[in-house]
Amino acid sequence: MSTPFLSVRDLRVHFSTEDGAVKAVDGLSFDVERGKTLGIVGESGSGKSVTNLTILGLHHPEHTRIEGEILLDGQDLLTAPERELERLRGNKMSMIFQDALASLSPYHTIGKQIGETYRKHTGASKREARARAVEMLTKVGIPQPDLRVDDYPHQFSGGMRQRAMIAMALVCDPALLVADEPTTALDVTVQAQIMDLLKDLQQETGTSIIFITHDLGVIADIADDVLVMYAGRCVERGTKKEVLRAPQHPYTWGLLGSMPTLEGPVDVPLSPIPGTPPSLLNPPTGCSFHPRCAFTEQVGGTRCSTELPLLHLSDGRGSACHLTAEQRSEFFADFAGTRPN
Ligand code: SF4
Repeated sequence: MSTPFLSVRDLRVHFSTEDGAVKAVDGLSFDVERGKTLGIVGESGSGKSVTNLTILGLHHPEHTRIEGEILLDGQDLLTAPERELERLRGNKMSMIFQDALASLSPYHTIGKQIGETYRKHTGASKREARARAVEMLTKVGIPQPDLRVDDYPHQFSGGMRQRAMIAMALVCDPALLVADEPTTALDVTVQAQIMDLLKDLQQETGTSIIFITHDLGVIADIADDVLVMYAGRCVERGTKKEVLRAPQHPYTWGLLGSMPTLEGPVDVPLSPIPGTPPSLLNPPTGCSFHPRCAFTEQVGGTRCSTELPLLHLSDGRGSACHLTAEQRSEFFADFAGTRPN
């Protein structure tokens, strides 16, 4: 078996606050293969973004306790000095954020911002960096790139700004791209264009992608493998087909049930997951999902509220739930029967 390009093992990210430790990520392990896309899905506050900011070394060390191991192409990022992380960021690993307007500087042209990243990592001249910026804007489909390269971010539409962010993230041909809800703020047609663009660029360059989203529809479009997060932990993992076609965890069923579909009658109501995500300052005991779960009685006794279910994986597939395999099949069949295919 080949070594994964990115390997995260038992990652814990705890923030100290006046009220105590916030366990934003609590024992997370996963791999990302070369040239593949891992979709990380979960509600706000599930630890998705914290995980990825940690991979890129973007947490302030003073108030953050980080444990575990993050190996990028064999190099441990958690023990790497800041100078080395700076060399890797923008070069070997890169990130696209949700809000391009907030992430781009309003004071510099798009071309300068793309070019500066390129110059920093390659030592290219200003002229070469400008030419590279035009090349990247062409690649991400900006019309008249040789003119638009001198525009400021506010002169671009939302979709064009997101394309410019992608151009900036990919200017040094990173081997790992982290995309944090990059299409959430865009309308659906632009969203589809950006996803197609990412898939084309990945085919061309072989970049590995971590795609963070709360939207299983987006996962269905772009991911090879899927990791479902809840309260700082992985509750389900598998290939896209496994997780979307035969999900095993009640939380994943809840995410699917709250997602609209185009098939079937239009009056099928969505079923939102009751309650809200837990506070990570004082997460529920046992299974963190138990206050919102409809299946605790089927497990029986107080097991769900007292015993943490462990994630058991076989060939990268599995979930963290006390229900038996037979119960999961039965309850999922009931759930699937209420949904159009
Ligand atoms: Fe629900 Fe219990 Fe499974 Fe947690 S362990 S998801 S509470 S059935």
